[in-house]
Amino acid sequence: MVNSMGRKGLFIDYEYCTGCKTCVVACRMEHNLPQDQFGIVVSEVGPWEIVPGDNHWQYSYVPIPTDQCCGCAERREMGKLPICVQSCQANVMKFGDIDELAASMQEKTKVVCYTIE
Ligand code: SF4
Ligand code: SF4
Repeated sequence: MVNSMGRKGLFIDYEYCTGCKTCVVACRMEHNLPQDQFGIVVSEVGPWEIVPGDNHWQYSYVPIPTDQCCGCAERREMGKLPICVQSCQANVMKFGDIDELAASMQEKTKVVCYTIE
């Protein structure tokens, strides 16, 4: 079993992600990234009907931090949240202790976890 004591991470409950990409824009502006580079991207999965005629669809927006995510280290040193977390109006992104976040999301089925430190 991996000991994750004290490790920080970004948890994204993407079931309720609207695909608005505010996090993408906020991250790029905060870190002054070039047009073709991103700290986080939002992937669109679907739509497709899983069982034809069943009206059960795969259609998700999945935010994925990239290797250029620095965890907004400078903001956190000032006691602020990562800008993607702060700017998400759907409140699906959380930053904090990995163990605590994992415990709070035990009932969730659609979660992305990105370890920051
Ligand atoms: S934590 Fe900061 S650097 Fe990482 S994706 Fe969010 S805004 Fe971008
Ligand atoms: S994570 Fe939040 S800000 Fe980013 S696309 Fe989803 S709803 Fe929008």
